[in-house]
Amino acid sequence: MSNRTRRKLLVANWKMHFLRASALDYLKVFRERVRAVMKTEIVLAPPFTLLEAVGREIRETQIKLAAQDLFYENEGAFTGEISAAMLKDLGCAYVIVGHSERRRLFGETDELINKKLQAALEADLLPILCIGETLEERRAGRTQAVLETQLRRALEGLAPSEKHLIAYEPVWAIGTGVNAEPAQAQESARFIRERLRSFLGEERAQDVRILYGGSVRVSNLESFLQMPDIDGALVGGASLDPVSFAEMVQQTERMVPS
Ligand code: PEP
Repeated sequence: MSNRTRRKLLVANWKMHFLRASALDYLKVFRERVRAVMKTEIVLAPPFTLLEAVGREIRETQIKLAAQDLFYENEGAFTGEISAAMLKDLGCAYVIVGHSERRRLFGETDELINKKLQAALEADLLPILCIGETLEERRAGRTQAVLETQLRRALEGLAPSEKHLIAYEPVWAIGTGVNAEPAQAQESARFIRERLRSFLGEERAQDVRILYGGSVRVSNLESFLQMPDIDGALVGGASLDPVSFAEMVQQTERMVPS
């Protein structure tokens, strides 16, 4: 599969934003603006508290639902945690795993992320695995070593046939307004695909969609989507405005050959 045949995908990571009323206001604007979009895959990742309400509002549309995290056990005495089966029950198709904010603020390790990935796959959820280097690691010339380690440890034990997506998110670009240069993002995405080739084999590595995330906005999205190994974007801050996020979806749609 080439970058022309891997379906383009945009994911809105709402992080810890919106209450029910503001989420519904968002959807009123957003749904209308993306009604005609069919080639681009659109995914919304609201906080857990809004999954049900958002899921209900997008049920009859082409928009898909994602969770921002999960716990790896199916059920039991794990106060405060949410399982893959619970997310599936709410209609989630995707789940973000290993976001850098979870790694940095909540101490998530590659081992924990590996368990979460496995749990998501067992419940038939598509995991979006986030990996990326810090500024310190980039300056020390360790970007590829970090990506390689995060990828290898997260994917350990997974059958090559299991489907997942990778989001390349340099930590220094997330929420900072300082995006990676498209060529830098492509270099990392190409490296990730090359490593996937050795973990999963040539054919599967070509299938895996790789997203870029880190200060993506209307004015820079296209430059990332033009890169041969980048198949979409994970958008945080700029996805909180339904007009901006809809504009990004439309831009993507215009770039997809019919
Ligand atoms: C993110 O939340 O994954 C992200 C990339 O955020 P932002 O677009 O705000 O940098």
